[in-house]
Amino acid sequence: MAIAPALIDRHGRTIRYLRVSVTDRCDLRCRYCMAEKMTFLPREQLLALEEIALIAERFIARGVTKIRLTGGEPLVRRDAIDLVWRLGRQVGHGLDELTMTTNGTRLAEHAGTLADAGVRRINVSLDSRDPATFRHITRHGDVAQVLDGISAARAAGLAVKINMVALKGLNEHEIPSILEWAGTNGMDLTLIETMPLGAIDEDRADRFLPLTEVFETLSQRFTLIRDPHSSGGPARYWRVAETGARLGLISPLTGNFCESCNRVRLTTEGKLFTCLGHEDQVDLKAAIRTGGLAAVDAAIDAALAAKPARHDFSVERGAAPAVGRHMSVTGG
Ligand code: SAM
Ligand code: SF4
Repeated sequence: MAIAPALIDRHGRTIRYLRVSVTDRCDLRCRYCMAEKMTFLPREQLLALEEIALIAERFIARGVTKIRLTGGEPLVRRDAIDLVWRLGRQVGHGLDELTMTTNGTRLAEHAGTLADAGVRRINVSLDSRDPATFRHITRHGDVAQVLDGISAARAAGLAVKINMVALKGLNEHEIPSILEWAGTNGMDLTLIETMPLGAIDEDRADRFLPLTEVFETLSQRFTLIRDPHSSGGPARYWRVAETGARLGLISPLTGNFCESCNRVRLTTEGKLFTCLGHEDQVDLKAAIRTGGLAAVDAAIDAALAAKPARHDFSVERGAAPAVGRHMSVTGG
């Protein structure tokens, strides 16, 4: 197929980053992410592994240099590792980086394979190191499994960044100790504000903790030096002088980052979303099944021509989600 033009949206932003949600399923039920009883997509509605690979390879041909596999929990999909092997072959051949965001429950088993397949860095979500708090937040998770997974990943040579959602009254008191633990073990920490995505069983506003507040508290204990590093995403970074590790803050509700947005998201059902905070999407599953890669190209171009300038999340919405789909569908 002829070389397709670069991916530039109608606001002049070049797209270099694709996130792929390989499954909407998960072995945990984090309270801010999912309801206790979730209805997942029937398997026959999902993109086949081959289709995901073909679409991802097309994005690489059109200038995407970074792909993150996420979900749901990517490692609960049986053929996810086959996809890692397939896309891992593109690293150094158009793709600069293949990464994954995982809850870590199955990392002990898979970390070595991820490293062998070409993954160099992963994000592991860990909202508490306390077994009871972790179990409460995830509704039944075992933190020891995740900590073992993190050790296995580091032993396999993977750089690990910890993602932690800051939750008022649940894990806020643990934030300083997790920052210290992560840093002294050579891991960066990114704190995330809860985002209004998908219906859950509680009101997110009750747990919303502004990271401006967290930053004030952390500044009293740590020397935080602004770090200009940027991933083109919502995170802002600081260097923690005491540990040398990096602290990232993702505050979509209190900060704006959309001007430099360089990413799009593919769901496990084949929908391409150009903004986490909007419903606009195109159907790449229909495109690839009816018209092959030429139709995929046309659909991607249509999506970029409509990419919104910015999200419009708001804290005031309270229980009502800004968009109906959960983070696990679009891919966090
Ligand atoms: N299951 C994997 C995990 O937990 O890392 C990958 C998918 S998960 C949806 C990706 C990230 O999104 C996690 O760090 C999770 O904490 C975060 N997340 C999920 N729902 C969120 C929400 N409503 N607001 C903010 N972050 C959320
Ligand atoms: Fe699963 Fe990740 Fe959502 Fe937690 S945040 S329920 S681990 S998808």
